[in-house]
Amino acid sequence: MNNRVHQGHFARKRFGQNFLHDDFIIESIIAAIQPKSEQALVEIGPGLAALTIPVSKHVEHLTVIEIDRDLANRLIENPILNNKLTVIEQDALTFDFNQLADQLGKPLRVFGNLPYNISTPLMFHLFQYANIITDMHFMLQKEVVTRLVAAPNSKDYGRLSVMAQYYCQIIPVLEVPPTSFKPAPKVDSAVVKLIPYKKNKPYHVNDIKVLSRLTTEAFNQRRKTIRNSLSNMFTIEQLNELNIDPNLRAENLTVQQYCLLANAWK
Ligand code: SAM
Repeated sequence: MNNRVHQGHFARKRFGQNFLHDDFIIESIIAAIQPKSEQALVEIGPGLAALTIPVSKHVEHLTVIEIDRDLANRLIENPILNNKLTVIEQDALTFDFNQLADQLGKPLRVFGNLPYNISTPLMFHLFQYANIITDMHFMLQKEVVTRLVAAPNSKDYGRLSVMAQYYCQIIPVLEVPPTSFKPAPKVDSAVVKLIPYKKNKPYHVNDIKVLSRLTTEAFNQRRKTIRNSLSNMFTIEQLNELNIDPNLRAENLTVQQYCLLANAWK
């Protein structure tokens, strides 16, 4: 019971609360982010401010998005932070990051030790705002970082790999053991840096919704060959014309081949 209480707050499982309490890891994350005073930093899930306080020392202003009302109130009342902080008590999954970038008049630098139960949908939500985000630093389950950077022909390569690699350059930063958190999660964690591509995009698709549908259909039936899993979208002849072997499975196609298919779909 007691290991769920940290700084007088009872950690809520439904909000994925595992609080960082390892100074070395915290310093390493701040060193990776390198916050600068005039930048628009945005933290998702500040919790008990383990990252918020050290980041705030480098910047004039910081926006945080926290779903837990008790934690949001603690942040508002925090004497070290209150004049630097805008606290938004909201579900980050429904937050409009465009509006914030407009208000601040700057591209956003997003970071957070993400609640693991929503980290994948949250990254998909953020990809929609890739053009107004400079970079993102996230603590994730190590397994999710492995999937983010996975190459084709491996079991870790999936829809998240294709979509994340379409949108971003992805750089793993450091691995973090369960003992760095209170309460300790059951799995290993890792910090990753995601840099959305701007004009330097390595891949081009005409309609991102098609890429999204294509990867969903392919990976929902990842054991099937694409002649079957993509039969609603492409005939065998069309796949052959694009020089994509219909007998491949979802995990055998490169990001480039997914983009080629997305652009060929009518
Ligand atoms: N940043 C703190 C730290 O490193 O110690 C807390 C990290 S904890 C893993 C995740 C935080 O995200 C919690 O404060 C939790 O309340 C918050 N959170 C959970 N779901 C959220 C959501 N949908 N939107 C915004 N914050 C959320």
